[in-house]
Parts: sequence; structure tokens; C-alpha cells
Amino acid sequence: MGKTVLVTGASSGIGKATAIYLAQNGYNVYGAARRVEKMQDLKTYGIHPIALDVTKEESMVACVEQMLKEAGSIDILINNAGSGYYGALEDMPMADAKYQIEVNVFGVARLIQLVLPTMRKNNYGKIVNISSVGGKVTLPMGAWYHASKFAIEGLSDALRKEVKPFGVDVIVIEPGGTKSEMTALGDEYMTGVSGNTVYSSLAKGVSKMYATMQKDAADPIVIAKLIKQGIEATHPKTRYAGAAGAKLIL
Ligand code: NDP
Repeated sequence: MGKTVLVTGASSGIGKATAIYLAQNGYNVYGAARRVEKMQDLKTYGIHPIALDVTKEESMVACVEQMLKEAGSIDILINNAGSGYYGALEDMPMADAKYQIEVNVFGVARLIQLVLPTMRKNNYGKIVNISSVGGKVTLPMGAWYHASKFAIEGLSDALRKEVKPFGVDVIVIEPGGTKSEMTALGDEYMTGVSGNTVYSSLAKGVSKMYATMQKDAADPIVIAKLIKQGIEATHPKTRYAGAAGAKLIL
């Protein structure tokens, strides 16, 4: 059996494609998400579905403990679970903003804390953090999403320097537009837009751009392949960027 991998957000989109692709390539894959029912089909690929809510401490601890008990180690962590709320910063309820940071930043960081002891013990580990092209460039109406992904970029770069002496690599993936549940959402995704005409017009423009991007968006397998490339490289690059649609944002 190959290396043991935890893929978060494996119930849809990039996470699901990555879990399947890695399982097909000999990895021992645990696919984690809240909607366990949406991961039952993963069993046909030999993937172990596991319940995980990255906003809940006890859920993250239980997930890691179960994997260590069953597989003995966690060699690769793919921090893919993510959430996106869009809307003018002035309008965005702070609860929504906090939730987004909770999932995209604190969830990522806490899982890293939980897997590092086993990685350090084995002097081997790959931590893959899924950022975004939106972790490099920004659009209006995406302040909190961008803030969360910019945070992941900085967190990953600092962490890389800390854990390199323990044989642990930190790899950042920056997808462009990729077909998934997140990008399939339409205007209803744009929360908190007030009656202000400037915000409304900006929101309309961004919605239109996302709709175009959705048409051109790449299959998640493109990102799954980049992830595999990253974890199998002897000297991984620090960043892998890809997927059609990225050009629309840049
Ligand atoms: P999806 O919406 O299809 O998938 C998001 C996944 O995250 C789901 O499996 C969902 O599972 C999981 N998730 C959300 N909240 C939680 C939570 N609290 N605990 C555990 N799992 C959670 O989106 P994508 O596949 O597009 O997104 C994957 C990653 O790629 C994200 O980090 C996203 O920011 C990033 N990305 C995507 C791009 C795109 O164009 N698609 C572009 C750039 C980056 P469940 O609801 O079952 O818990």
C-alpha cells in the first residue's frame, strides 16, 4: 500500500477528483468532509470516507486519531476544504466573514498542527495547501475570500521554513477557474450586497465574470494532476498554478 493521504473537502469538486486520482495511483486515501453521504461512491475506488468538519476541534481530532489508528501514519495532508462568500466588505455580516476564515485558515492550520507530530516522527511529510489564483490577485466583492487565501500563502511560506528540517514539504496550489459546486453557484452567491448602486454594479460585473469563467472552467482533474506532481517531486516547487480560466482573472 502506498503513502497514506488525507484529502479534505472530498465530497465534491477538486477534493473528490484528487481523492479518486490518488487512489487510482496507489495511494491509501482518506476522503474527508461533512457530507459523508456524498462520499459513499468513493469506496468503489478503495477510498475511506471519513466525517470531518474543519470548524470543529473534536471532529478534526477524531479524524486524525482514526487515521493514525487504522493506517499508522498520515504521510500527506491535502488541505482542500474551502468556503467562499462574496459581497461588499461593508455589507458582509461579520459572522459570514469569520466562518470563511474559520474554514479556509484556522481549519487548515489546526489540521497541520494535528498531523505534524507523526510527520516529524517519520521524518517524512507533504502538506499541500489549496490556495487560489485569488491568493495572488483580487477582485471587488471577494475581500474575505482573498484575505483567507492570501493568509494561506503567507502561512505556507513561513511553515515551509519551520518544517523543512523535519523532512516535511509544504506545497501551495493556486487553481484558476475549475468546475465545482463552488463555481456552479450563480448570483445568489453574492451575499450582503446593499441597495448601493456602486456596489450593485460592481457585483453585477463580478457575477458576469464568474459566469464566463464557469463556462471556461477546467475539469478538477487538472488540479488533481498538479497535486500529484507536487507530492511526487523530489524537490517540489513551492507553488503550482493551473487550470483554464486563470487567464480571465489575471
Ligand atoms: P466545492 O464547493 O466543490 O468543494 C468544497 C469542499 O469543501 C466540499 O467537499 C465541502 O464538503 C468542503 N467543506 C466546506 N466546508 C467544510 C467544513 N467546514 N469542513 C469540512 N469540509 C468542508 O469547491 P472546490 O472544489 O472548488 O474547492 C476546493 C478548494 O479549491 C477550495 O479551497 C477553494 O477555495 C479552492 N479553489 C477553487 C477554485 C475553483 O474555481 N473551483 C479556484 C481556486 C481555488 P462538505 O460541504 O461536505 O463539508
